[in-house]
Amino acid sequence: MRLLVVEDEEDLVDALRVGLVRAGYAVDVACDVAGAEEKLQVNSYDLVLLDLNLPDGDGFELCRAVRRADDGQTVRIIMVTARDRLDDRVRGLDEGADDYLVKPFAFPELLARVRALLRRDAAGGTAVLEVGDLRLDTARVEAFRAGRQLGLTPKEFGVLHYLMTRPGHVVSTEELLEHVWDEHTDPFTNTVRVTVGNLRRKLGAEGVIETVISRGYRLKERV
Ligand code: CA
Repeated sequence: MRLLVVEDEEDLVDALRVGLVRAGYAVDVACDVAGAEEKLQVNSYDLVLLDLNLPDGDGFELCRAVRRADDGQTVRIIMVTARDRLDDRVRGLDEGADDYLVKPFAFPELLARVRALLRRDAAGGTAVLEVGDLRLDTARVEAFRAGRQLGLTPKEFGVLHYLMTRPGHVVSTEELLEHVWDEHTDPFTNTVRVTVGNLRRKLGAEGVIETVISRGYRLKERV
């Protein structure tokens, strides 16, 4: 899953980036409204962490812009701000934010809210995803097949997570690049193919990730 962090406090940005990458997410950063708008036009994000007080404008407007551009209403938005007045929180939710977190906050709470929003559409609605004998614990960032821990790298975990939220559906290489890798990835790289290859090897015999020629990859619904 790919996140955009819109935040102008450098120390906080660094801490968020490190913690979110460790939790298995691809993370891009924008430090102002203009930068965020640019990235939102080019990339597909699953979730935006949005600071309200930005050097060139107001996070509320950005939130509206995200909602206008997001026809399918699939981008999740968490406002993260030092403004703790009730009317700010109410306005944030009214402008289309899914959640609102007041600074200073505990990082585990932010992570829990991110997980909760990203699984909102998924069946079951817990931090653990299951497809056949595959089990993915998004809170502990651990994956298992038939009870055996797989020991995945963050990118392998990210690919499996993305596929497990769409079992039976074909997911293209471009879509994986968009949602599992960050903006510093060369779009012509073979990193997706290599990562899927390594993931398959760790998943072991009886392939669960099928290649659909010239379209992409598909996780078998019944493993
Ligand atoms: Ca700020």
